[in-house]
Amino acid sequence: MTQSRRSFFISAAAGGTALVAAPAILPGTRREALARAPIAGTSAPAFYRFKLGEFEVTALHEGEFTRPLDAGFVRNTPLDEVQKVLAESFLPTDRLTISFTALLVNTGSKLVLIDTGFNDNGGPTNGRAVAAMKAAGIEPGQVDTVLISHFHADHLQGLRNKAGQIVYPNAEIMVPEQEWAFWMDDARMAAAPEAMKGAFQGVHRVLKPNAADVKRFKWGDEVVTGITAIDASGHTPGHTAFAIVSGGQRMMYVADVTNTPVLFARNPDWKVMFDMEADKAVATRKRILDMAAADKLRLSFYHASFPATGFIAKDGGGYRFVPAQWS
Ligand SMILES: [Zn+2]
Repeated sequence: MTQSRRSFFISAAAGGTALVAAPAILPGTRREALARAPIAGTSAPAFYRFKLGEFEVTALHEGEFTRPLDAGFVRNTPLDEVQKVLAESFLPTDRLTISFTALLVNTGSKLVLIDTGFNDNGGPTNGRAVAAMKAAGIEPGQVDTVLISHFHADHLQGLRNKAGQIVYPNAEIMVPEQEWAFWMDDARMAAAPEAMKGAFQGVHRVLKPNAADVKRFKWGDEVVTGITAIDASGHTPGHTAFAIVSGGQRMMYVADVTNTPVLFARNPDWKVMFDMEADKAVATRKRILDMAAADKLRLSFYHASFPATGFIAKDGGGYRFVPAQWS
């Protein structure tokens, strides 16, 4: 007997035989009976841990943000082409969910957090880095160093909570010098278009009160033993990746070298609306993804699906993100 794929579900609903079984209903029970546990509505705080040489790396699920998908999201590509790639990736085509994953690196002598997420300055579906950290057995007060890749809100705002308190009270805060020069310039903030003013004000809110304590690094600096700042500019003027090396093993935290790799690794020429210097961002993306593909280098992205770590394969004119095996 042949049966169309669609009819499996139809016959199941009608109580007939189906490969996809309908829930068993015991004789005498009513369909309306409650399950023995309520619908939870949320997942537990999530972390994922792996070794890199002597280092222990922990990916922290900060959360996500869902936005409607419009023609302006990818500036140089028609909306229907973007939607085609989403459909092929089994994703909705009318909206886009962007994931956030911060990285915690324990070098043995320093506990280093790379990017903070929003803390309580974002929305209901994000701000969970501290909860994820606590689930991993670590308190914010144990963090020695916070490294910031760039000053966009989803990476920086969680340094300080909404009430204005520093979330990692014992940590040295280290930021890219070029990023500081751009965003902390009062004259540039005053001259910025209205739509950009909020971004500047957000940066100043977080970094101005203890500006003297914020350490600025240059590209090429080994900011913490085993962690080196790499020029990944284009997404923002000072956007920085971090090369992490221990015991002969290497990886790179690439922050926003791509927004979601589903779209922008596959199509590295696509210009996402968040790339401030779009041509430079495209060149940086290709340089870093080419290097990762050639060297079989493990990458961690900020905007890939959790745990956001894996490898890059060349694929036609673009690249394919291959998640690392869960272990
Ligand atoms: Zn981002």
